[in-house]
Amino acid sequence: MGKIAGIEFPPQRVAATRFAPSPNGRLHVGHAFSAMCAHDFARAFGGKFLLRIEDIDGTRSRKEHIDAIIEDMEWLELKHEGPVIFQSQSIARYKEALDRLQAMGLVYRCWCTRSDIAEALKHKPVRHGPDGPVYPGTCRGKTEGDGDFCWRLDMERALAMTGPFGWKDLVAGTQIADPALFGDVVLWRKDAPASYHLAATLDDAADGISHVVRGMDLFAYTAIHRLLQKLLGLPEPVYWHHPLLLDEAGNKLAKSRLSQPLAEIRAKGISGIELVEQLRQGKLPLGIGVSTA
Ligand code: GLU
Repeated sequence: MGKIAGIEFPPQRVAATRFAPSPNGRLHVGHAFSAMCAHDFARAFGGKFLLRIEDIDGTRSRKEHIDAIIEDMEWLELKHEGPVIFQSQSIARYKEALDRLQAMGLVYRCWCTRSDIAEALKHKPVRHGPDGPVYPGTCRGKTEGDGDFCWRLDMERALAMTGPFGWKDLVAGTQIADPALFGDVVLWRKDAPASYHLAATLDDAADGISHVVRGMDLFAYTAIHRLLQKLLGLPEPVYWHHPLLLDEAGNKLAKSRLSQPLAEIRAKGISGIELVEQLRQGKLPLGIGVSTA
């Protein structure tokens, strides 16, 4: 048995978990909670805990945030095994996977700008997915266009190839995956290399992540990740989407006034290990609550 963040888990074989922040901002106590969940889960079941910096978004990733993440993790004393993994060093591997999907006829180039999409949506019945209006498929079947393009997954073809499938969340239980809700998702961006979905899925496989422990805010995306695993013949991890820390208004900490950077807390001379210990005991800083799902 292992109790993490107040949840009792039955014994299991864990190879590795990971904490995978994007260095486009400073870490706050919600990140410390997430890192603690992944760390403690690995420790409870004899697995490794890895730190992966998701730094492929060249427009938003910043070196100072990378340095701060590494310092924050040391301060929190959430020790990871092996060297820090940087997604920016694996772009060739992501490209290979995209090429494979292209050879399978499952991706297409899309030249649409945001305004092209908004315009096309005026003339079609709009379908809303978890991320907002679903791409109307304007470029599906097009072979030429002007300017930069991204690569989109042809969702219908992809699902015709895999058939139905599901995934397992340790707390929420067995799920039926419905990636079609998202429509033709972007796998390779115009302004940055691989999308989060492609890079994270490939890395979880390459890093031997047996248990993906991450926040509930990413729950719906797991359907896309499982689809990519099926298409690319990657192993299926088990998932635990942990609850989120929320502010008084019930919002994710992200941009709230309670999302004080860990670096500022550290600068006050507070001990990181004590902060983690309090999170372990469910003693949350004033004004912060935990989501129920
Ligand atoms: N990089 C993502 C984030 O910071 C997390 C990705 C994941 O855990 O799958 O939200």
